[in-house]
Amino acid sequence: MENKAKFMMGLKMRIYPNRKQERIFWKNINASRFVYNKLLANSWTDTPVYKNKLDELYPIPEKYWKYNKNGKLLKSSIVRKTGLARITKDKYPWLGDKDIDSDMVNNAQVAYKSAWNLFNKVHKSGTPKFKRKSNPNQGYRTSNHYSSSAVKKNGGVPSLYNGSIKFLDNKHIRLPKVGRIKVKLSRNLPNNQLVRIATVSIKHLSTGEWFVSLLLKSDEPFKRQLPKANSQIGYDLNTENFLTDSYGNTIDNPRFYRSIKGRLAKEQRKLSRRGRRAKSEGRKLWKSKNYQKQRKLVAKLHSKIRNQRKDFLHNLSTALIKNHDLVVGENLKSKNMSKNHALAMSISDAGWRTFIGMLEYKAPMYGRTFVEVDPAYTTQQCSECEFRMGTGNTHKLTLKDREWTCPNCNTHHIRDWNASKNILAKGLIELTKTLTEDSPIYR
Ligand SMILES: [Zn+2]
Repeated sequence: MENKAKFMMGLKMRIYPNRKQERIFWKNINASRFVYNKLLANSWTDTPVYKNKLDELYPIPEKYWKYNKNGKLLKSSIVRKTGLARITKDKYPWLGDKDIDSDMVNNAQVAYKSAWNLFNKVHKSGTPKFKRKSNPNQGYRTSNHYSSSAVKKNGGVPSLYNGSIKFLDNKHIRLPKVGRIKVKLSRNLPNNQLVRIATVSIKHLSTGEWFVSLLLKSDEPFKRQLPKANSQIGYDLNTENFLTDSYGNTIDNPRFYRSIKGRLAKEQRKLSRRGRRAKSEGRKLWKSKNYQKQRKLVAKLHSKIRNQRKDFLHNLSTALIKNHDLVVGENLKSKNMSKNHALAMSISDAGWRTFIGMLEYKAPMYGRTFVEVDPAYTTQQCSECEFRMGTGNTHKLTLKDREWTCPNCNTHHIRDWNASKNILAKGLIELTKTLTEDSPIYR
């Protein structure tokens, strides 16, 4: 079946498995981890099978080299096409168990491959790591299939309701191996006819809750295209507030974490106290009821902060996209973060990256344009006359200069407002370079 689609969307919802379904989920979670780890273990070997072209194409930098116990250099066999890395039912008969989802096995292999692909592209995160059983968040991924007869019977086009994974109604979904299961939708299902389900991840969180994440694909935008807003906006991300836009509006930093920090710290101390006590009394942590109870409470606090932050980011990004034909922001990658620790901290705290990701995927959903520009000089330049501070005998603006007056044209500026005007201007220049009549350019 045709699998290329222009638009993708994630849909995450809580599910409520019964005991039996939970058992099947755990079987697949454990098997998925096994397959992934087995492949990973097989990817390091001290017996070179044959000279590998891909090892030459993607040499592993010395700092990631691995050695065996005798100090012999291990070669990466990741991409060797021998049967070495194949995980099959013949080798591991229990993978043929009736509760084991064969698509889970395929998806674990895909995850393993993409972990190496990611490593080959960006070394930063190091070579793929083994998945630990002790990780409180566990899960596995599986795929949806459309059979032509089932599709024919139900509407004629693949949809949310006629695949091997499908919605039975607004409260139930059918998942492989476990069948019908209760779901809680956090928003309406897209009513676009051409939406289909691609892959599905089943997750168990440290809070004890189960979630399912669907990757939806469509040839059409998920939301109806909106009429023109006749408005364009630039925004500047800063440490003092979340953002300042080119109309001069300031959105304050939510700093949820800071407000709830005291409570979290207290509960976390309690958790480690219980951990220490269990240890001193020679009890295993997973057997200690008090410890586990507290661990769940801490996890719930964390997830509360996460959800509040996400709601804030969703509301703000949707409002920006809905109300403006063009949204321009600065490219965070170009900002030199590593030099400014406070700035880096604030970025991860406020969720700027998540926010930018939301603008990126929401823009095409609503037929809007989102552009990122290089932030160079956006702060130092006067948006009226383009005079640049720091040139001539003027000083560069610092974080302390919240307001300033342009020595060239005497315009009084609020620093971040001026920056967001420059950002919008840069975005417009960027667009005119690439934009042809009536082509909504996305990035
Ligand atoms: Zn000026």
